[in-house]
Amino acid sequence: MTQSDLKKFHIKSFGCQMNVYDGERMSELLVDQGMSAAKDGEEADLVVLNTCHIREKAVDKVYSDIGRLRRKDGTSPMIAVAGCVAQAEGKEISRRAPTVDIVVGPQAYHRLPELMEVAKSGKKALDTDMPAVSKFDALPSRGKQARPTAFLTVQEGCDKFCTYCVVPYTRGAEISRPWTDLVDEAKALVDGGACEITLLGQNVNAWSGADDKGQQQGLDGLIRALDRIPGLKRIRYMTSHPNDMTDGLIAAHGDLATLMPFLHLPVQSGSDRMLKAMNRSHSARSYLDILDKMRKVRPDIALSGDFIVGFPGETDQDFEETLEIVRAANYSQAFSFKYSPRPGTPAAGMDEQIAPEVMDERLQRLQALLNEQQYAFNQQTVGRTTDILLERKGKLDGQLIGKTPWLQSVHIISPDLEIGDLVEIDVTQAGPNSLTGQIRERLAA
Ligand code: SAM
Ligand code: SF4
Repeated sequence: MTQSDLKKFHIKSFGCQMNVYDGERMSELLVDQGMSAAKDGEEADLVVLNTCHIREKAVDKVYSDIGRLRRKDGTSPMIAVAGCVAQAEGKEISRRAPTVDIVVGPQAYHRLPELMEVAKSGKKALDTDMPAVSKFDALPSRGKQARPTAFLTVQEGCDKFCTYCVVPYTRGAEISRPWTDLVDEAKALVDGGACEITLLGQNVNAWSGADDKGQQQGLDGLIRALDRIPGLKRIRYMTSHPNDMTDGLIAAHGDLATLMPFLHLPVQSGSDRMLKAMNRSHSARSYLDILDKMRKVRPDIALSGDFIVGFPGETDQDFEETLEIVRAANYSQAFSFKYSPRPGTPAAGMDEQIAPEVMDERLQRLQALLNEQQYAFNQQTVGRTTDILLERKGKLDGQLIGKTPWLQSVHIISPDLEIGDLVEIDVTQAGPNSLTGQIRERLAA
């Protein structure tokens, strides 16, 4: 295989939005190398599986995907495994799946072109270093955006070491990207056509850094600076940790029209006993206190969260307390998972692992309650006038799908409008997962 043989690439990202962001950056890097995006893995000379290690299921999925990349004629494209599975499993991946050519961790993907060179010579290429030099400096700058909404990773890694979680091991220590780099990247995204930016981080609200005048700032300061970028209409951020939820960030929700009324604030469990065993360092009460403060400045805030059921030692009473906190907090949407033991984490070795059928039953009950709350939240919006940002085409003729400030999907029919338009609508109907609306006026394109 020669350099010129590698023309088309396909990147498949699993897991969180940070992986979606990394996938976009890898794509820009490969385009910068003269390659172009294939429509699928079948057409590609290089397939990158950008993996997630958070739960066991996510890992199994990667291995089954690798197997499926073998073509009918017995050949395979060049295969790179990137992301957190690459970081956690390293060389083990090529042993288990010999068709894999490249293994590259989430802090080293800027080196993909060099690794492709090694792979072309028939050798296995591996880079799971966490170099001191930021990969962000080595990546090409942001260009034209395919969508009106863009992700911007501001913070990576985690120092919190929740006892169930692999992130501190796969993504490394908590780092905040520098202020100027972020403001510049946000401006480039807006110049490239983005009008909504979601700031990303494993603990995005732990972001801190010195501004252009040398003043120490938190995420609220950064958001206030981004709010001043002309053309940037909406700002979001996720995922936040309760312990890093500052009064300044809460106040920003009351002050800034660009900061959307949406908060993704995982609690994981409503039982203080479980929260302690999880090493979450917040309590059910302190979590609810944050919500009270937030709702004082932004009564319409839409709340999202993450939950784990069946953490080792979770009793029926602990689980009831999770249902209680859900009732007290009232979510507009949420993610809930069965606890998955991850190799190398303290919880994996804890006694009293919970039986799968108990986890199944608890998950069903929790999801039934969360779905009920989501539906009720959607129904409350019926009759309301709101703006939506049109993000993609729907299945029907002339149908477009946009998002409300509260991150609900809205379907409208309007052949005259385009993706990227910000329009005012009346919400006419609500389903469990989305809304239907009627157009009032176009606010901006
Ligand atoms: N930093 C965020 C926080 O502290 O809430 C969460 C980031 S984590 C990548 C996303 C979610 O995955 C967590 O909130 C948790 O609910 C879930 N998760 C992490 N490890 C898990 C495990 N071992 N089993 C099941 N769910 C897990
Ligand atoms: Fe994982 Fe906890 Fe860090 Fe979130 S705060 S990334 S759950 S260790």
